Amino acid sequence: MSTFRSRALQETLNRKPVKIPQTKNRSEFFGSNVFNEVSMQQYLTKEAYQGVMNAIKHGSRIDRKIADQVANSMKNWALSKGATHFTHWFQPLTGGTAEKHDAFFELLADGSSMEKFGGNELVQQEPDASSFPSGGIRNTFEARGYTAWDPTSPAFIYGPTLCIPTIFVAYTGEALDNKTPLLRALNAIDKQATAVAKYFDKTVSKVNASLGWEQEYFLIDKALALSRPDIVLTGRTLLGHSSAKGQQLDDHYFGSIPQRVLSFMIELENECIKLGIPVKTRHNEVAPNQFELAPIYEEANLAVDHNALLMDIMGRIATNHQLKVLLHEKPFKGINGSGKHNNWSLSTDNGVNLLSPGKTPMRNLQFLTFFINTIKAIYKHEALMRAEIASASNDHRLGANEAPPAIMSVFIGAQLSSVLRELENVTDGKLSPEEKTDLKLNVIGKIPEILLDNTDRNRTSPFAFTGNKFEFRAVGSMANCATPMTVLNTIVAKQLKDFKKQVDLLIEKKDLKKDEAIFNVLREYIKDSKDILFEGNGYGEEWEKEAAKRGLSNNKTTPSAIKAKVTKKTIELFAEMEVMNEKEILARHEIELQAYSLRIQIEGRVLGDVALNHVIPTAVNYQNTLIKNVRGLKEVFSKEFESIGKDQMDLIKKISDHISGITKNTNAMVEERKKANATLDEEQKAFIYCDKIKPYFDKIRYHCDKLELMIDDELWPLVKYREMLFTR
Ligand code: ADP
Ligand code: MG
Repeated sequence: MSTFRSRALQETLNRKPVKIPQTKNRSEFFGSNVFNEVSMQQYLTKEAYQGVMNAIKHGSRIDRKIADQVANSMKNWALSKGATHFTHWFQPLTGGTAEKHDAFFELLADGSSMEKFGGNELVQQEPDASSFPSGGIRNTFEARGYTAWDPTSPAFIYGPTLCIPTIFVAYTGEALDNKTPLLRALNAIDKQATAVAKYFDKTVSKVNASLGWEQEYFLIDKALALSRPDIVLTGRTLLGHSSAKGQQLDDHYFGSIPQRVLSFMIELENECIKLGIPVKTRHNEVAPNQFELAPIYEEANLAVDHNALLMDIMGRIATNHQLKVLLHEKPFKGINGSGKHNNWSLSTDNGVNLLSPGKTPMRNLQFLTFFINTIKAIYKHEALMRAEIASASNDHRLGANEAPPAIMSVFIGAQLSSVLRELENVTDGKLSPEEKTDLKLNVIGKIPEILLDNTDRNRTSPFAFTGNKFEFRAVGSMANCATPMTVLNTIVAKQLKDFKKQVDLLIEKKDLKKDEAIFNVLREYIKDSKDILFEGNGYGEEWEKEAAKRGLSNNKTTPSAIKAKVTKKTIELFAEMEVMNEKEILARHEIELQAYSLRIQIEGRVLGDVALNHVIPTAVNYQNTLIKNVRGLKEVFSKEFESIGKDQMDLIKKISDHISGITKNTNAMVEERKKANATLDEEQKAFIYCDKIKPYFDKIRYHCDKLELMIDDELWPLVKYREMLFTR
């Protein structure tokens, strides 16, 4: 057997059985590596503690003196935990996380040394980060970038390092990361949602967006992963014939978790718990070797950080278990891909979930207000919602009959649909006392009851209401949640702002009571945004047709989807909500186009290399064996040879056809790449990669996968699907 493949397989056979680690109760060590409120109270002076809490709760500035105190205490806490270094931890536009470690260790003038960490180092750093994508914002001549402490996300210790969550911005003020726009969007939703929530409860002074993500991922044996150039370089398989058994028996979903995987999960979860990530659920997913991990939801900013951190931790812990985590949205053809559902809601500082109905009619009117405004926001910005989750890797998933389609729609269930139908008939203008009573008792009063038995769920919907939250299911498994959270919170903030203006106008100009005005505006919203509601099968062809009739966008690829990010409408939206200015938006668009082209370029190169250097030589090799065999047959059976050697000769011929199929298509792909690379316009280039180059992947793969079935298994150089997908 090919030495590379056989060595990798041998290695997996030699793996020792694992023991399941013992653990303490999680509540005993939850957050032990986080500089959270408890440790702050212990380490900070009263004054410094107050300063930080005010910054967290009210966004107030932390002055220099306090910063020095906080830094010193943070250092003492970190040293007590064995940390030697610190880093500003941030989320650049690559989608991952970044860190540059500096030691606390300093030399003093007299040659002695000590551990030092001051307010300056805590508050601001200037990493030499010129290699991060900035879309031209951070021209080397004009402006450098710096990281600035985000006190709303607590510092934590990861390995030997104190990590300080920061934002990354240019000196000219533009955001260079995923976190800055998120914080601005969370600010916007706080402001607008608080103003609306005050209609129902005057004491509300803050609204938080919450996020509960569900992370799907694949695990495969590390030796097998490392033996495949495509997995190493692109995170997915670019070729490989499907395994005779895949997911068709549905025997993996919620099945018993393999021992090695369980031991990985336990170590991973323990690390998460120490870092304050409240992980809760683990299970097998639909595909073989696919799993899911979900925490208890948190305030959105913290949840975003925790997910970014988790993706990093997963990779490291997997190594301890000789496993490799694949976060790619579609690592294996013909097998379900991975997503990251984003469960989202809004809650007030009085602890009320605004997307959850309650006991009183007023509470339920509040629920309907936020519910209907969210639907309307999605309707108005459906193309942007699709755009924000677009990526080269997520394109494989959306619309591939396993994940939500590339069309945005909202699923609310039969019961709430009927509530909306009734609300549509609310009288225009003033309501009679009878009408009001009827509405309160028979329509909104019934919501909590009907929701109790709200069991209908539609797994094909990209954006579904699930009882007390919306679940955005189109987000990719590799994505940084900051982007979808930025867009969702921004569009809902804008919608609530418009809503409040309209309601206030009706109260003032038409002399309507508050609840009458709210009913009136909501009624119009229901009528306006009906087209986004869809309860049927999102995978069906009929839905594509129906959606087109409704004027909903259906952008199947990244370059076409992300056009929605730079429309006048989007630019105005982000400007009005003070989330991003035009320069920031255009820079991001350019970075995404570049990233798209680069990803497809790398995949094309790897596929070409593997096809030409691994597959074709193996095919030729095997073909030579067949030729030798045919020669021998001819010698032995001179007369009957025609019929006896026929199958072998056919095979020789077929192999030649596939070899030429690979060569022809690979050469043509390379020619297209040359054209793309000579194109200066980034958008045009991305479209060439998408429409002209990517289609060759399937063509080349087709021939390679056919050869995999023809060629002696002993010779095949690449670890096969059936060998990768059933790791125990
Ligand atoms: P499932 O959707 O799998 O049936 P649940 O409804 O229990 O499971 O919750 C799924 C996810 O939704 C969990 O990660 C949970 O933390 C999150 N979630 C629950 N309530 C909220 C909320 N108010 N805001 C945001 N996320 C939430
Ligand atoms: Mg879910």
